[in-house]
Amino acid sequence: MFGHPISHSLSPVMHNAAIQALNIDYIYVPFHVLPEDLESAVGGVRSLQIAGVNVTIPHKERVIEFLDEVDDHALAIRSVNTVINEGGRLRGCSTDGPGFVKSAEAAWGKIDRCRALILGAGGSAKAVASALARIGCEIVIANRTFERAVELVESLKATTPARAVRLDREALAEEAARAELLVNTTSVGMHPDADGIPLPPNLIRPGLLVYDLVYNPPRTRLIAEAESRGAKAVNGLKMLVYQGALAFEMWTGQPAPVEVMTSVCEQALGR
Ligand code: NAP
Repeated sequence: MFGHPISHSLSPVMHNAAIQALNIDYIYVPFHVLPEDLESAVGGVRSLQIAGVNVTIPHKERVIEFLDEVDDHALAIRSVNTVINEGGRLRGCSTDGPGFVKSAEAAWGKIDRCRALILGAGGSAKAVASALARIGCEIVIANRTFERAVELVESLKATTPARAVRLDREALAEEAARAELLVNTTSVGMHPDADGIPLPPNLIRPGLLVYDLVYNPPRTRLIAEAESRGAKAVNGLKMLVYQGALAFEMWTGQPAPVEVMTSVCEQALGR
């Protein structure tokens, strides 16, 4: 994995547990790569014949220029989180959005064609919105900086019905009443802001599917409020695991042991 910073990442512990569980000959190593060293680090993947790498902040967009090929979905969102070394040719893709959809469907069953309200318009919102667009969802983006919501909606409009709204009580009340799926992609509620919640809790109604991308703390205030109001809620640990599982399968050709990966992440977060 290439990132800067890198020490907080759960990916090494998650992938090494999966490797151990399958008893295969791989190792997953975090590399602290400075922005000015990214090109030579990518060259190292070729010369050292590394099977693949994850790429994280701040390299997800810039790495594109150093790869031989990039999947359509990753190009559309200008973000690569997984690089696969195919005999010396480096292919980039993004497993964040597909991992989000897979994890949501593992928890709740099919979510295609649903009405989704996404809070936030940053990197993870782009990945989630683009993956939901691919399965025919109707998308509303609500963001604190309204212009960013508009920009994201413009990039989606060719493939799916999408609208931008302000992250204020009035707009949220209207949209939350129509939504079947609510996704928090903002950092509100993340440690150390554990009391934070990205929308007024009384807008959450029974039966709403609530997905909080935040996983630290594991039970965010949004998750707790959603459950107490009869909504179904999951935290971002599932997305982390499923985006990792998809990458693992591409690198190793083996089915990822999702249960092992989940439990080792839970243990690491509990510590
Ligand atoms: P990002 O690109 O920096 O975007 C952050 C978003 O949060 C922006 O929409 C920003 O709004 C909004 N925001 C920040 N503080 C806010 C506040 N006080 N009130 C309202 N909105 C606020 O970050 P990102 O990469 O998308 O990550 C966002 C969150 O998702 C983080 O908590 C991250 O840990 C989590 N995440 C989880 C996974 C996973 O696998 N579970 C993967 C990726 C990210 P503005 O545009 O107005 O600044």
